[in-house]
Amino acid sequence: MAENVFILGAGASVESGAPVMDNFLDRAEDLLRNDFFKDYSKSIKKVFKVISDLYSVYAKSYLDLNNIESLFGILEMAKIIKKLDDYSQEEISEVRNALVILIVKTLEKSIRYPKGKSTFAKPTPSYDKFVQLIKNIDKNSKDNNQENKVNNSAIITFNYDLALDVAFKLNNIESNYCLNPDSNYGVKILKLHGSINWAHCLKCDDIIPANISFNKHTLGSDYFLTCNSEKICKVNHKHDEINEVPLIVPPTWNKTSYHGKLTNVWHQAAKELGDAKNIYVFGYSLPKSDSFFRYLFALGTLGDSRIRRFWVFDPNPAVKKRYKGLIGRGISDRFDFKEEYFSSAIDLLNKELNNNNNESFGW
Ligand SMILES: [Zn+2]
Repeated sequence: MAENVFILGAGASVESGAPVMDNFLDRAEDLLRNDFFKDYSKSIKKVFKVISDLYSVYAKSYLDLNNIESLFGILEMAKIIKKLDDYSQEEISEVRNALVILIVKTLEKSIRYPKGKSTFAKPTPSYDKFVQLIKNIDKNSKDNNQENKVNNSAIITFNYDLALDVAFKLNNIESNYCLNPDSNYGVKILKLHGSINWAHCLKCDDIIPANISFNKHTLGSDYFLTCNSEKICKVNHKHDEINEVPLIVPPTWNKTSYHGKLTNVWHQAAKELGDAKNIYVFGYSLPKSDSFFRYLFALGTLGDSRIRRFWVFDPNPAVKKRYKGLIGRGISDRFDFKEEYFSSAIDLLNKELNNNNNESFGW
């Protein structure tokens, strides 16, 4: 079990170019207008059509249609209750899949990886820094002499993008998505809401991570990254029944339609929270819609382990209050909130690590 658990939200990927939830659709619309989506334009236009349809239909209730997570939640719910204005069931499924494509393509076109010298591309600077921090923590840990073995930290992330995965890969550190129970290798990257490179078998429920490849960016020397999402259904697997879109799920409370292998990830996340000595949160604003995480946190931290630090980094000071409402009295004196962006938060932790004796400070 890892002593240090890092929780990453959308804010952690902003410095790598990703949009946040509130401006995600604006970014997608700009990319659509500038013909960045090419063959996917037709499908992505369906999402904007549904937004404009919903605006008129839902005049009676409040729905935040500008927020991508909220829209994703609405479409999921529509799929479950089989109702969305005049849309047929088939059309609802189509729009839901089109929204996944919109998310995948917007992230692919937004996050840019700098050109590398010896490697084709380099990790984005903030995630590279994060990987170095994880390595430093392990170097300082007494019982670990193996190079590139990082077992003192586990990462729980809400992000669909691959900037973190790529940073570990290009630093030659193996990632373990914990899609199978009790798999114990590499650094644990627990992607609670799925990933744009995960294929899903509809027959056996297996999740199969697809290979990641780079495409040169046409406007400069940076690189776009694709996970071959258009070919996601062609991943190497024993069955042919692979879903045509990657496995990503919205953060709404109702995740009951996503049983199977994703629960292994959630189970491992609860385990890690239960055993954590230090919990560090970056750029996760604890949205009200994410009751799932609130329950996971409450149940996960029921363990005997005593939390020494619960530190939250977010540039928005309003986030502090939400966390105060999340944590119990037992750890309220271990809670600290710092108004920092992802990369400056990492600098701060690195400094802390260098300045303090490992044992006395509890790393
Ligand atoms: Zn299968």
